[in-house]
Amino acid sequence: MGGTFDPIHYGHLYIAEEVRQAARLDKVLFIPSAQPPHKTDFIVTSSDHRLEMVRLATAGNPFFEVSAIEIEMGGTSYSVRTVEQLINKYDGKAGLYFITGVDAFAEIATWFDVERLLTLCHFVVTSRPGYPFRRLEAVPHIKPETLALLDEMDAGRPCATATLETGRDLILLRTLQLDIAATDLRARIRSGRSIRYLLPDSVESYIMAHSLYS
Ligand code: ATP
Ligand code: MG
Repeated sequence: MGGTFDPIHYGHLYIAEEVRQAARLDKVLFIPSAQPPHKTDFIVTSSDHRLEMVRLATAGNPFFEVSAIEIEMGGTSYSVRTVEQLINKYDGKAGLYFITGVDAFAEIATWFDVERLLTLCHFVVTSRPGYPFRRLEAVPHIKPETLALLDEMDAGRPCATATLETGRDLILLRTLQLDIAATDLRARIRSGRSIRYLLPDSVESYIMAHSLYS
């Protein structure tokens, strides 16, 4: 599960745990992205801080692991490169599942070398408030018959497994709708509003100790 995790919050942790159980995964790797070399619409917090917050947040779950693979590679993070590295790391023996929310997966057509990425691993996509599963019709290599499944998911079906035209699994999972977003958390901190109960206490303390986002 990749992300900027700027900062990590209960939305991330909750879906990771839910997916781990539903897809019977041995573990979930949290992979914070590297700091983009160029500024985009906002300045991403330094990788060291984001990595440390992910470490703090995941420390209590024996099934959660943190990987600094993208941060160590540096530059712009490309998921296809990350997955290639993970395949090498596990000697091709691990079944890799790429976990994203609907919002992120709906954009995958814009990712670098998506054609190859979709051949390399399986995908698990969880619901996110404001983003119907139907948005996934924009995903390359989704089979026409899967479109009906997307509508069923939006109508309340709890989960479904489809196959992409690349042969890889696409697991769709309805989760509780935790409408927590890092963008909102950053805005709350800037304006002095509480972020308590939206992320782990340890992460909140870290943010305050390092005066992040204010
Ligand atoms: P930002 O607002 O800065 O984009 P974010 O909260 O969306 O932050 P990201 O690091 O962009 O967090 O997200 C990483 C992954 O976690 C993405 O796949 C995203 O879809 C998923 N995700 C984040 N928050 C939630 C949530 N509340 N519910 C479900 N999925 C989430
Ligand atoms: Mg996001």
